[in-house]
Amino acid sequence: MIELVSAERCITCDKCIKVCPTNVFDRGEGGIPVLARRDDCQTCFQCEANCPADALYVAPLTRPLPDGSTARDEEHLDRTGLLGSYRRHIGWGRGRTPGALRAVGPSLGPPGAKEASPPITS
Ligand code: SF4
Ligand code: SF4
Repeated sequence: MIELVSAERCITCDKCIKVCPTNVFDRGEGGIPVLARRDDCQTCFQCEANCPADALYVAPLTRPLPDGSTARDEEHLDRTGLLGSYRRHIGWGRGRTPGALRAVGPSLGPPGAKEASPPITS
């Protein structure tokens, strides 16, 4: 569930507002998104994945964490690298290796090939 929007990092691009399938965000004062309908969050991570400023944190849980949780402590999330960590892990963002290139799967050769292609490694 979405836990934090960093007003300090946010560049007010509206991407999270647009991609959220359940319309959790409203555009707040100065363009910083606010969690207007947080209970509707589906924990899909699309907002965090699409945020170019690594300004969001979605916890991997389907229910909100209690008040006072470190998941809503921006200093903690910043220090531990959790802010934007989903986006980083899937490799979205300039200079990152897309997760699809690191995915493990069967090597597939071209149609009719007798041998499989070597795996993609970078
Ligand atoms: S995790 Fe998905 S449903 Fe929840 S706020 Fe982000 S985009 Fe919306
Ligand atoms: S996607 Fe990130 S930078 Fe853009 S409005 Fe949302 S929180 Fe701010």
